[in-house]
Amino acid sequence: MKHRSLPVFLVLTSVISVWATAQDIDQPPPVEVSHITGSLHQLRCNGNVGVVASVGEDGTLLVDTGYAATASAVQGELAKLGSGPVRIILNTHGDGDHVGGNAALGDGAVIIAHPGVHRQMGKYFALPTVKSAGLPMVTLQEDATIYFNNDVIRLLQVPGGHTAGDVVVHFTKSKVACIGDLVLVGTFPNADPARGGDAQRLIEVLTRLQKILPADTTLLAAHGGAFTMAELEAYIDMIKSTVAAVATEVAAGRSLAEIVEQNPLAPWSKWESPENGLSFENWTTEIYASLNGVGPQSICAPMTEVLMQDGVEAAVARYRQLKKEEPEGWRFAENELNLFGYQLLARDRTDEAIVILELNTEAFPEAFNTYDSLAEAYMLAGRTQASIANYQRSLELNPDNTNAVAMLARIREE
Ligand SMILES: [Zn+2]
Repeated sequence: MKHRSLPVFLVLTSVISVWATAQDIDQPPPVEVSHITGSLHQLRCNGNVGVVASVGEDGTLLVDTGYAATASAVQGELAKLGSGPVRIILNTHGDGDHVGGNAALGDGAVIIAHPGVHRQMGKYFALPTVKSAGLPMVTLQEDATIYFNNDVIRLLQVPGGHTAGDVVVHFTKSKVACIGDLVLVGTFPNADPARGGDAQRLIEVLTRLQKILPADTTLLAAHGGAFTMAELEAYIDMIKSTVAAVATEVAAGRSLAEIVEQNPLAPWSKWESPENGLSFENWTTEIYASLNGVGPQSICAPMTEVLMQDGVEAAVARYRQLKKEEPEGWRFAENELNLFGYQLLARDRTDEAIVILELNTEAFPEAFNTYDSLAEAYMLAGRTQASIANYQRSLELNPDNTNAVAMLARIREE
């Protein structure tokens, strides 16, 4: 799922040159490095997801590892920073864009996460070993402290807001806290019940952070970068008011469909970001699920099982069958197949991802983000013409899709 559109045209010339020489599918997408403070650096993968590296005398510690496809580019940038082998990897949660590089970057490292990350990575794909899959080898349910590169690093266990495996990594001396996807800067959050997220729990978690973290802490969101504790307060206020607005409708006995139709979240339109899947409907649905207990499971759950056993075509057949026979029994929202596709991309299963993302354009032919995602997958597969066609289709449906504009410009440059 796209969380943020990519400011690709703003990247450094050295990064563009990586793309300019990209002739085939093996060329990894770019990684953009910025210094945060002291030993800390941020590496932005594919213009979208942030990896944080502490590089110093004790070696290298990573917070998240980006996509599988960007791992070698991350490795290259770490080498330029003078980094030796990675010694510790901390995952903020288990989504594919945060753990995708674990296996490639974590050879010889200790990978630490919440048990929910282990469950999530094992649930969607058969992942037998730490080495092949980059599974966490240490899981923690209580807060812990790591002493590394002259910093005191607190691991704050805050599961259940964004996913069941959320951890915040607080570099107490550097006054920097990596908060993963608990806050998506400038947009509605994502508290997806399919992965153990919960809108009301997200309020609790963020309020706890507000109490623990000093007021001068710089918060680093994996999508959107740095923001302040004051901005965190405003974000919590937005979540509280939007949850209350939907709760009023639920108390009046309205169904989810009626609430979506009525859209009580309209006053918060500046937080909506449909191009990243963070639409009024998505956030309303997640709040509704939180207020009513978890609703139907994602259609991706049965599809993943079938895919692992009988391949992607069988998974598509299962989708069609369940959509026909049990349309209310599963979540068929636009985001579901989109997320599934990105999970596959994160595991270098590009051909299967393309089939799934094509299915999503068939299911939601008027949704511009489905074509945008498919175009990205085609690009990763080296299928440039198909990529261009889908970015153009996305742009026809939404002329404000700046990501498609930037990507088309980049393809043309090559
Ligand atoms: Zn993410």
